[in-house]
Amino acid sequence: MPVYIRCPHCKTDQSVKNTTCRNCGRPLPRQGRIYKVVVVYQGRRVQKMVPDSLSLAKRIEAKIKAELVSGDFFDRRKQSHTLNEVWARYLPWAKENKKSWRTDEIRWNYLLKGRFGKKSLIKSVLLKLSGSSWS
Ligand SMILES: [Zn+2]
Repeated sequence: MPVYIRCPHCKTDQSVKNTTCRNCGRPLPRQGRIYKVVVVYQGRRVQKMVPDSLSLAKRIEAKIKAELVSGDFFDRRKQSHTLNEVWARYLPWAKENKKSWRTDEIRWNYLLKGRFGKKSLIKSVLLKLSGSSWS
């Protein structure tokens, strides 16, 4: 069974056919369920939690499987760098190539680091696009 339902009480993964948890014996919820999709392909294991919808979970399962088989799958968790990581690579480059690198460093230390340093790059960009101010 590649799609499981997670028991909210003991956090074990159950067959979607079960109505009660095989581990703790409590009833599995009818609504607000959390499904866990597990796809294993050539020794690679990909899993994803999907809220509420079994049909969505099955679609996601099929998509992950198709991407793994075609080689298009990439792990989105590994894809996202934090701004701290980007900055650590940017600063040495700036020191060599930009006269104004000190200004960049001051801006980074005073304005951005504390607020955005640990956020993922993608989230930070989205935050900026959504109109959040940088000051
Ligand atoms: Zn349970």
